[in-house]
Amino acid sequence: MGERVRFEAGRPVVLRGGTVLPMDDGRRVLPGTDVLVVDDRIAAVGPRLPVPDGTAEIDATDGIVMPGMIDTHRHMWQTAMRGYGADWTLTQYFIWYYLEHGRRFRPEDVHAGNLLAAIEALDAGVTTVVDWSHGLQTADHADAAVDALRSVPGRFVLAYGNIQQAPADWTAAPEFRDFVRRRITGDDMLGFQLAFDVTGDPSFPERAAFEVARDLGVAVTTHAGVWGATSDDGIRLMYDHGFMNAGTVYVHAASLSADSYHRIAATGGSISVSTESEQSAGQGYPPTWAVRAHGIPVSLSMDTSVWWSGDLFSAMRTTLGADRSREHMEAHAKDETVTHCGLRADQVVEWATRGGARALGRDGELGALEAGRKADIVLIKNEHSPVSFPLLNPYGHVAFQAQRGDVHTVLVDGRVVKHEHRLLGVDLAAARREVERTVEHLRSTMGEEEWRKGMNPDVPGTTLLDNPYTYTDYHSASTHTHREPA
Ligand SMILES: [Zn+2]
Repeated sequence: MGERVRFEAGRPVVLRGGTVLPMDDGRRVLPGTDVLVVDDRIAAVGPRLPVPDGTAEIDATDGIVMPGMIDTHRHMWQTAMRGYGADWTLTQYFIWYYLEHGRRFRPEDVHAGNLLAAIEALDAGVTTVVDWSHGLQTADHADAAVDALRSVPGRFVLAYGNIQQAPADWTAAPEFRDFVRRRITGDDMLGFQLAFDVTGDPSFPERAAFEVARDLGVAVTTHAGVWGATSDDGIRLMYDHGFMNAGTVYVHAASLSADSYHRIAATGGSISVSTESEQSAGQGYPPTWAVRAHGIPVSLSMDTSVWWSGDLFSAMRTTLGADRSREHMEAHAKDETVTHCGLRADQVVEWATRGGARALGRDGELGALEAGRKADIVLIKNEHSPVSFPLLNPYGHVAFQAQRGDVHTVLVDGRVVKHEHRLLGVDLAAARREVERTVEHLRSTMGEEEWRKGMNPDVPGTTLLDNPYTYTDYHSASTHTHREPA
């Protein structure tokens, strides 16, 4: 029986006998547990569940069943240039993306990037993605972004933005209002936010855009605490004008003072940490080590595939590493030793799932496995992997051992979209053709030399320090040459 038929719409599905991480308040681990899905909801979680006649069964033994992961900040359009900026800093990103490549994106290029990013998310077990879509230069670009998201069976939030115009201008444009009326219909699979940054200009030119968000009843997501770009000034302006609220998502928040964290904590917002991004691009040190002391809710994000892939396993792993690294360094500076890690594996798994749900105001529906919630579910299981056993510490396993290739089955809104490591109902070849056309467009309009220069920034020279001993001549051929005895 074909997989499409086996998982036809309306047919209940049960995942049998997995180790279930329900992501409840007790952070329980439920071995040998079933999860039953009927329509778009989880109907029951428990051992040896009775199921309706005709239920499709998925064998989850030796696997981990967890909620679908949620990425709260991802510039999906940029996936069309996957990996191009691997050696960039934030400065190079701003120049090339905002002033060069990014301006050249046509609606079909935004479509190509979004399509590939959306497919990639499902494949990696990321069932909800906030598309931080700041390349929407026209309503046609915005339509293309939504067309792409609608064509993939994942859950998305379009965070509408346009880096080529001031937020007060694009939010006031009639074509923007018209787009919202036409395309944002309040359905559960496509949420809506406004995405723009607050420069810290004392005249607070972003005020009108915040008023539009308030008027529409939608949240604002903003890059805050980005070294050299956004600072405590922006937070103060938002606070003084009454625009910090529970739905606000502060992306990075990596170079903010304690006072800004206090304001965020007091107004109920959350922080989206993109550890891989903060480590490479230079927004500031990944802030979880500082944010934890303020009790601010955290979610995780991957930012952009111009550097990194859309993989929250990677986010969990690097976030644990960066947090622990900083904790050790802070202690060493005081000649102390950390004997117990403050950040635990179960906490980053929580941030990758329920933390995202909370950030989006959907804590009651997404991010956890319990009866009544939406059925966004991931089964991590790989019979061919020597890394799949023994399964002693399931949270540690998810954070440090598992990877996207181990994502066996994914359900979104009760629908099986990946099974036995294969996506269902997704045309990857079509996405490849679209992305190839976009790369060809960008490459040909920029010219080969500019294209290559953009991908290969100059490397600053390294000055060798004086060495009181004699340096080894590593470059000489003789150093490691094997000599036959004379
Ligand atoms: Zn970003």
